Amino acid sequence: MIRIFIFSFSLLLLAQCQPKEPEVTATNEEETTRPKNIILLIGDGMGVTQVTSRFYYGEGEPNFQRFPYIGLIKTSSSREKITDSAAGATAFATGHKSYNGAIAVKDDTASVETIAELVSDKLSTGLIATSSIVHATPASFYAHVPARSQYEEIAAQLTTSSVDFFAGGGTQFFVDREDDANYLDSLTANGFVVDTTQLQKPASFSMEQKYGFLLASDGMPKMQEDRGDFLPQATQMALEYLSQDEDGFFLMVEGSQIDWGGHANDAEYIIEEVKDFDKTLGVTLDFAERDGNTLVVVTADHETGGFALSSGESYNDLVGTFSTGGHTPDLIPVFAYGPGAESFAGIYENTGIYDRMVEATNWASGSPVASAK
Ligand code: MG
Ligand code: ZN
Repeated sequence: MIRIFIFSFSLLLLAQCQPKEPEVTATNEEETTRPKNIILLIGDGMGVTQVTSRFYYGEGEPNFQRFPYIGLIKTSSSREKITDSAAGATAFATGHKSYNGAIAVKDDTASVETIAELVSDKLSTGLIATSSIVHATPASFYAHVPARSQYEEIAAQLTTSSVDFFAGGGTQFFVDREDDANYLDSLTANGFVVDTTQLQKPASFSMEQKYGFLLASDGMPKMQEDRGDFLPQATQMALEYLSQDEDGFFLMVEGSQIDWGGHANDAEYIIEEVKDFDKTLGVTLDFAERDGNTLVVVTADHETGGFALSSGESYNDLVGTFSTGGHTPDLIPVFAYGPGAESFAGIYENTGIYDRMVEATNWASGSPVASAK
C-alpha cells in the first residue's frame, strides 16, 4: 500500500516535471522571442561606481540608461573569493567557474568549449578589445591555456581559432616571439586579412574572408593618450561585417582599460574609459534597435580599485577615492536589451551570463538557424 502510494506520488512528480507544450508553434515566425545575434560588452573592472561616473561626467544621457533589464552577478572564481579577469571571462565564455588565471579551461585545467566555438559552425564571431587581443578577457573566448601569461601560445591559438573578426592590440605576441616564428603570416595563411596600421574598412568587406586589426604592440593607447574612437568604430565595423551573416553572429566587445584605471587608482583614467565604453553601448543599441533580432548584454568581470566618488570640500565636490590597488568581490551590474533580455534580471552567478545567452538563443541545440525562426 505504501509502495503504491510512493509509486503514484513519483508519477505525479514526474508529470509535473514534464515540459509544457510550447505555446508558439514553429511556423509562427512573428511571435519569435529568440535573438539571432548576441553582442556581449564587458567593461573590465566596471563596478557600480564606475558606471555611476558616467552619470556625473560626459555629455548627454548615458547609454546605460537605455537598458530595460538590470541584474547583478556574483563573481567569485572556483578557488578565490575575488576573481581575476581570466576566471571571470572564462565564466562568461564557457559557463564554468575556474581558478584565477585560467583561460577557457576548467578547474582541473581541461579545455572547455567557448560560446564562440559553440556557434562557429553556423554563425560568425567577432572579438574587440582595447587591451591586446591575447589579454585574458578576449583570449578566454578562443584560446585554452592553464595560465593567462602564456601570451605567445594564446596568439598561436588565435590564428587557427573560429574567430572571424578581431580588433585590438598585441602585434608583438605574433612577431616578436621567443620561437622567432611569424604568426602574422599564420593569420594570413588561415584566411585573415590583417591590418597592423589603421582601422580602415577594406574595399571589399567579404564574408569569404576573415579580418584582423592589430593596432598596437601591446595594449591600445589610453583615451587620455588619444586613442580616439577606436572602440565605437571597431564595433561599428564589426557589426557591418558580421550582420552580413544571415544565420546570425556573436560579438564580444571589451572596454579593457577601465580595469587599468582602477589598478592605477586614477579616477580620470577610469572616467575617460567609461565614457568611451558608454559611447560604444550607443553604437550597439542603435544597431540592435534597427535590427530587432539582437540581444545586447553588458556586464563586467569584477570591480577594480574599490572605487568611490566621495565628497571633497562639499557635497557638490566629487573626488575619486580608492580602497585597493587590486580587485574587489562586489556584486557586478548586468544590463540587457532585446529578445531574451528579461532573463538577465535578478541576482545570479557570473556563469549565469553564459547560461542565459545559450538559453535565449537555443544555440546549444546545434541548430541556431532553426531556433531563430
Ligand atoms: Mg580584460
Ligand atoms: Zn585587473
